Amino acid sequence: MSELEITDSKVDPGVIVISLIGSLNENTIDILEKAIHKHLSANELKFVIDCEELTYLNSKGVGAFNWAIGGIRKHDGDIKFSRVKGKARNVFDMLGISEFIQIYKTVDEAVEAFADPSVKPEGAESFSYITAKDEKYYHYSWCPEAKKIDKDDIVEFKSRIEVFGLDKTPCPICRPADMA
Ligand SMILES: [Zn+2]
Repeated sequence: MSELEITDSKVDPGVIVISLIGSLNENTIDILEKAIHKHLSANELKFVIDCEELTYLNSKGVGAFNWAIGGIRKHDGDIKFSRVKGKARNVFDMLGISEFIQIYKTVDEAVEAFADPSVKPEGAESFSYITAKDEKYYHYSWCPEAKKIDKDDIVEFKSRIEVFGLDKTPCPICRPADMA
């Protein structure tokens, strides 16, 4: 048996749910990359990666996630995560990836969030806000739209109060104004 097993299924509305079982490291990232490639070539761009049974993850594994997210967001798709816990969660937090992705408590919430952006990820209210000088909107840092802002132009705020007075509109995708 391989160190990593993957199951994938398609659920409404056209979301691919990939479950990772085992260890995501330099020996197994190609299993994940192949699975994602298969769907990308079928023009399927919405993914939920369920990590409930992901027992080990290292920086190479996170690198594979970054690679996939970068490519998919360029095509207006996204990867959302569910049930990231334990050691995997620590690695996500340590490498700073949690700031830029959406993690949900359940697979269903992650799937639903593709159709309904008001379904908030875990800890949504504790994220920072991001905008740029020539950007009309302000975003949560996890917003896929915020990813399109040039790194050098990003202006980051720790609280929404700092955004007031800047003449920015809350992004219609991540809806940062919904939180007090
Ligand atoms: Zn946004």
